[in-house]
Amino acid sequence: MRTATRLVRFDPAPGDPTRPTSTPIHQTATFAQPGADEDGPYDYARSGNPTRAVLEAQLARIEHAERAFAYASGMAALSALLRLVPSGGRVLAAEDLYGGTHRLLEKVAPALGIRVSRVDAGDPAAVERALHAPTQLVLVETPGNPLLSIADVRAIAEIAHRRGALLAVDNSLLSPILQNPLELGADVVAHSGTKHLGGHGDVTAGVLAVRRADLAATLAFHQNAEGSALAPFDAWLLLRGLKTLHLRVDAAQRNAAEVARFLASRCEVTRLHWPGLESHPGRDVHARQARGPGSVMSFETGCAETSRRIVDALRCFTIAVSFGNVASSVSLPCRGSHRAVSAAARAERGLGDDLVRLSIGVEDPRDLVADLAAAFDAAAGGAVTSSASPPAPRAARRPRRPSPPRARS
Ligand SMILES: *Cc1c(COP(=O)(O)O)cnc(C)c1O
Repeated sequence: MRTATRLVRFDPAPGDPTRPTSTPIHQTATFAQPGADEDGPYDYARSGNPTRAVLEAQLARIEHAERAFAYASGMAALSALLRLVPSGGRVLAAEDLYGGTHRLLEKVAPALGIRVSRVDAGDPAAVERALHAPTQLVLVETPGNPLLSIADVRAIAEIAHRRGALLAVDNSLLSPILQNPLELGADVVAHSGTKHLGGHGDVTAGVLAVRRADLAATLAFHQNAEGSALAPFDAWLLLRGLKTLHLRVDAAQRNAAEVARFLASRCEVTRLHWPGLESHPGRDVHARQARGPGSVMSFETGCAETSRRIVDALRCFTIAVSFGNVASSVSLPCRGSHRAVSAAARAERGLGDDLVRLSIGVEDPRDLVADLAAAFDAAAGGAVTSSASPPAPRAARRPRRPSPPRARS
């Protein structure tokens, strides 16, 4: 079966004699056993739950994996990934990574006795050089976030394996519809299920998928031992989101092409980052390993204030971190997803204060382009282009409330 079919055509409730057509939410912590010395298929929900089991089987199928594991968030999944590295070991990580992954590698990995080195994953020769020191795990994202840099998964897998390291690829940005890193030689694929897999902005979840039985056994042990698995209701939400994954990803990507065409035509845009562009430096490598450019892009204006004004003037884009939602969103990575990256590291990686990231959703693309055009005009101080009913200024819709101290994404 092809992926689009698999997403909706699967056994939603193995062994259930009532044959429900949607997977039941097994909202139970424990399972009665058939006898004092007899084991049932499940005993305790941390160790296994039928709702999560259906989800994990689906995730394994669509990532062409032997087994997949669902976690409470993408960060919980990446944290579980670090369990494949022994204390005293070393991780070689790409420079262009999600901000939260930076924080995990900078602040948590050292406390586990894991050393972390960084490399420009766009350059396989640099990866090869960096692997002269013994390394257990190489971690890349492709396309990278938020600059959409491309890493050659086949080349890096070959180099990593020659040096005795595993390769993990965070595939959140494209989803399994557009890229399957395990097919390209990666050993582990990671996802923030919060993004495309869930797709509706209503659940945080994470995924690891593997082919090798020994890696699956290690991950299964830690998922149970550390209690990091996804809860039954959240597993159900993710399963429900998955059913429309290919429809959403295809529609968002088509819209993204329209938005990219518009942005490329504006003189305010000094640089546009999207692997669908002829001019994208990683375009050829990307075309060899993925089935489309996806729906996340970023652009620069050369001026932080202009970028801020554009973001504030948008009406059809929610100002929010995250991506892969059916509704389009916009963020300034230096203020949101990448605030965990130090100012020095941001400067070194070319993450300017003027960088704007767009996640394109499934709206009518004409509304998205018209909204961007109006926001560019507004930011330039010109009249807002005519619209039948001009929306209220955003500030009026966002009353400022004193906020309690909180952790940031
Ligand atoms: C969002 C994200 C994560 C973290 O996932 P959460 O579900 O927010 O914990 C990890 N990697 C990438 C590429 C992401 O975009």
